[in-house]
Amino acid sequence: MKDKPTILIVDDTKENINILLSLLKDYDVVVALNGQKALQMTTKNEIDLILLDIVMPEMDGYEVCKAFKDSIKTQNIPILFITANSDDVSIEKAFSMGGVDYVTKPFKPVELLARVKTHLQLSQTLKKLEDLATKDYLTGIYNRRMFFQLGETLLRTNEKVFGVMIDIDKFKNINDTYGHCFGDTVLKSVVNTIQKFVTQDMVFARLGGEEFALLIQSDSEDAVLQKVEQIRQAVQAIEESHENSTVKITISNGIANSKEYDTLNTLMAQADEALYDAKGSGRNKVCLFRSRT
Ligand code: GH3
Ligand code: MG
Ligand code: MG
Repeated sequence: MKDKPTILIVDDTKENINILLSLLKDYDVVVALNGQKALQMTTKNEIDLILLDIVMPEMDGYEVCKAFKDSIKTQNIPILFITANSDDVSIEKAFSMGGVDYVTKPFKPVELLARVKTHLQLSQTLKKLEDLATKDYLTGIYNRRMFFQLGETLLRTNEKVFGVMIDIDKFKNINDTYGHCFGDTVLKSVVNTIQKFVTQDMVFARLGGEEFALLIQSDSEDAVLQKVEQIRQAVQAIEESHENSTVKITISNGIANSKEYDTLNTLMAQADEALYDAKGSGRNKVCLFRSRT
C-alpha cells in the first residue's frame, strides 16, 4: 500500500509544471511533457489522478483523455483538465471525453488543491466500494457474484472452458479441533497455494465457506486434469501447524467441460456433481463429470 497518492501532470509548458509541482508537494508527482509519455507513465506507475493540459502539440488533451478512457487499466483514473481554454465548447468536450473536472488557468491554488483532494477521496471510496462488491473479505479473491459475472463473459467468448469446483475436506473438523481462527488461516493458506496456479486468463473465486471455483480455458481435457491434480498435490503439501501438531489439509475437486449450450450454472452444477463423486469415493481426489444419460 502506498502512503501517498500519485498524481500525473501532463503539460508541455515547464512553467506550468513548476507551479503545479510546488503546489502538490504533499503528493507523489510524476510528470509527462506529452501524451505519448503520459500513456507510458501509467504502465510503470500506479496513478491515482491525472492533471491534464488541453493544448499540446501532437496529441492534444482530449486525445490523451480518450486513450486513457479506452484502456481497462486506466479508465477509472480521474482526469482533471487544467487549461487556458474557457469557452463552453472546450468545457463541454472535456466532460464528454470523460474528464471529472475542469479548472481554467490562471487557477486559484486553494481551489485546485481542494478539487484534487476531493477527486482523490471520491475515487478511493469508489475503489473500496468496488472491492466490497466483488472481493471476498477474508482471502481477497473474487466473490461468488464476481465469479458469475466474469464467468458468463468467459463462457460467451471462449469455446472450450472447464469449470472446477474445489472443496476443502473435513474442514468442519479443522474448525472444531483447532478453532475458527486457525480455520481462517487454513482458508487463506489454501487460497495462496491455489493462486500460484492461476493465470490471467483464468477466473478463481471463493463461492462461500470452504468452497472455491475455477474457470480454465483449454483445448485439452488432459491438461486441465493435470493442472487440477497439481493443485491438489500442492494443497496436500501445505504445512500449517497448530501448536505442536502439523495439520493435514486436502481438497476434493470436480471438473466439467463446457458444451456449446451450457450456461455457467449448468457447467458449475456438473462440476459440483463430479465434486460429489470425489467426496463419495474417499476425498482428496480429482473427478471428471461424466454424463449419466
Ligand atoms: P466435506 O469434506 O464433506 O466437505 O466436509 P466439511 O467439514 O468440509 O464440510 P461442511 O460443509 O460440513 O463444513 C464446512 C465448514 O466450514 C462449516 C463452517 O463452519 C466452516 N466455515 C465456513 N465459512 C468459514 C469461514 O469463513 N471461516 C472458518 N474458519 N470456517 C468457515
Ligand atoms: Mg468441505
Ligand atoms: Mg462444503
